[in-house]
Amino acid sequence: MIDEAGFRFDGRRWDELRPIKFDIGMLEKANGSAYIEWGKNKILVGVFGPREVHPRHLSRVDKAVFRCRYHMAPFSTEERKNPAPSRREIELSKIITEAIEPSVFTELYPRIGIDVYIEVLQSDGGTRCASITATSLALADAGIPIRDLVVACASGKVEGQIVLDLSNMEDQKGEADLPIAIMPRTNEVSLLQMDGNLTEDEFDKAFKLAIEGCRKVYSLQKESLRNKYISLKEAINTEVKSEE
Ligand code: ADP
Repeated sequence: MIDEAGFRFDGRRWDELRPIKFDIGMLEKANGSAYIEWGKNKILVGVFGPREVHPRHLSRVDKAVFRCRYHMAPFSTEERKNPAPSRREIELSKIITEAIEPSVFTELYPRIGIDVYIEVLQSDGGTRCASITATSLALADAGIPIRDLVVACASGKVEGQIVLDLSNMEDQKGEADLPIAIMPRTNEVSLLQMDGNLTEDEFDKAFKLAIEGCRKVYSLQKESLRNKYISLKEAINTEVKSEE
């Protein structure tokens, strides 16, 4: 998995991310949307809300009900995935909701719901991190007040080495996987999971590496939001000018 010169099977160094691309606001029917390509992962996120909660009895008097649903398309994996929600999808829906909710000012929307639908179109390891990162952008696109963007990235251990951003093969053949999510402005960690075994020193190194990865992805996230609003502003200006 790692050659003598230190290159991983896809040509990356130990501390390199896979290429990441964002698109924002492409779904017309959703209040906010985002699309992310992270390596071979392709994930689409639609946000609906603030809107009425269904079923109504789930609404809360003190805050909005914030729910994320993570779903993998049947064609998103090597072998056709059963379209029925799996235990894994239920777990990921829960941890993604919990990773993002601290960033949302839910207290501003009592009795209201905010629903997020995450569709994994293609997967190659690290879909929970990519989903969290894209969901936060889709919430920003929906104009929902947030404290900060949430960004996620994993590190792990492959053939005895700590590496950043594991692909599916590295995840399967490696010794450990450590996905984390943070709100970079305050350095709060809202997701920390670990699969496999690491010594205390390895954990420290992997944790620091994942935080650095998050910070790199955070710059890309902010840049894509800025670009989206610059092009939107330009489009509005052109429209106003042509009307004049
Ligand atoms: P994450 O995608 O967050 O790394 P996992 O570690 O559970 O989550 O999954 C790693 C990868 O395994 C996924 O990204 C996907 O490529 C693959 N995978 C997950 N579930 C299935 C499945 N039911 N069938 C085939 N491949 C799957």
